[in-house]
Amino acid sequence: MAETLKSVRGMNDLLPPDSAKWNYFESRCRELFARYGYQEIRTPILESTDLFSRGIGEATDIVEKEMYTFPDKNERSMTMRPEGTASCVRAYIQHSMHRKEPVTRWFYSGPMFRYEKMQTGRYRQFYQIGVEAYGVAEATVEAEQVAMLYELYSSVGISDLTVLINSVGSGEDRGRYREALTAFAALFKAELCGNCQRRLETNPLRVLDCKVKTCKALLKDSPSILDSLSEASTAHFEQAQEALTSMGVPFTVDARMVRGLDYYTGTVFEIVASTESLGTQSTIVAGGRYDGLVESLGGPSVPAVGFALGVERAILSLDGDPEEYRAKPDVFVVSRGEAAAVAKLGLAAELRAAGLCVEFEHRATSIKSQFKRADKLGSHFVITVGDEELAAETVKLKDMSERTEEEVPRTEVPRLLDRRVKRMTEGGEF
Ligand code: ATP
Ligand code: MG
Repeated sequence: MAETLKSVRGMNDLLPPDSAKWNYFESRCRELFARYGYQEIRTPILESTDLFSRGIGEATDIVEKEMYTFPDKNERSMTMRPEGTASCVRAYIQHSMHRKEPVTRWFYSGPMFRYEKMQTGRYRQFYQIGVEAYGVAEATVEAEQVAMLYELYSSVGISDLTVLINSVGSGEDRGRYREALTAFAALFKAELCGNCQRRLETNPLRVLDCKVKTCKALLKDSPSILDSLSEASTAHFEQAQEALTSMGVPFTVDARMVRGLDYYTGTVFEIVASTESLGTQSTIVAGGRYDGLVESLGGPSVPAVGFALGVERAILSLDGDPEEYRAKPDVFVVSRGEAAAVAKLGLAAELRAAGLCVEFEHRATSIKSQFKRADKLGSHFVITVGDEELAAETVKLKDMSERTEEEVPRTEVPRLLDRRVKRMTEGGEF
């Protein structure tokens, strides 16, 4: 027997009915982001490695050890994108967006790749939906993004949320803070994990992002970055908080949240869900301001703010049987006899053309098993066509929830069904 092939470790297939849950969540994002003025952008999955090492930062976990990087046939170093922001910024610069419009608002959605240690909610191919706004220096824009996320999760029923915000300040502020933090950590440097000891040399703020328990405990009382902020940075952070309060979003300031990527300046935020199924991977979205990134990748000096949400983690937080998210057929057409089996094709085509969701059985099976299948699919109506109905130019129409059946003229069916299905939809049946 041939060897069975399996998907790559950490990269998963998405099958029905789970895909229905994903579609539901993704379409909620699309609708909502459009309402806030964000338009979709699609960038390639493969980019040149430089983009990420320059964009995300050499001394980050992603660039140091998580990227899928390989030479292409021409020996150029290529990387499967580990996140979306660097590609968006590249596109923003490449297409001179700043000359076309003062403010650009984009969202993207798609797979990201990171060679990580796998756990629930942590995969090697995972999906992010992200948003980027370019051209606004005011803190109201980051507050609005947080408010949009808050609306998103609440509207899909993920309501036990904690919004964490912080400011990582300007480059100068971080310089001051780096000194304070390094001096503090010097006291117990030897007790930190190897990674953190190295981080203290290369990128000290990263120690606050360490997931190792002993490091977390040692760094619990580290100095607050908020004490190192300049007056301007403090005022900006206050504006963000004021805007959040005005928009009715509850939040907590967490001075130890610095985020895993290098490009942030000023406000950073995370939303944590308290769903048990997430285990320790409870951060469902992360983002912040990155005013220097566009310029550092060779573009104009344009401020920017964005976030990326993890789709798998959102889905894990969504209650409910995935079956509930599957679209049920409006009508299932059952046939009795060979002539009716052909006639039902025409009827189904007519009903589909009228916009209805229609199913029928292709296999030659009994009436009973056709009805069983209609039931299993959760069809709202069943139409039966047999020789007698064909002769009388009628069909039998059964309402599956009311369990009532009536005989109606064949020509009336599309109009009749359309009206009934609409009535059900408007009545909030599904
Ligand atoms: P974490 O601290 O959990 O590793 P991160 O700081 O690397 O997250 P970002 O790069 O900011 O996260 O990504 C934003 C969101 O994308 C995360 O909050 C999470 O929901 C999701 N995410 C990140 N990495 C993964 C992964 N490997 N598998 C699934 N989802 C992920
Ligand atoms: Mg990570």
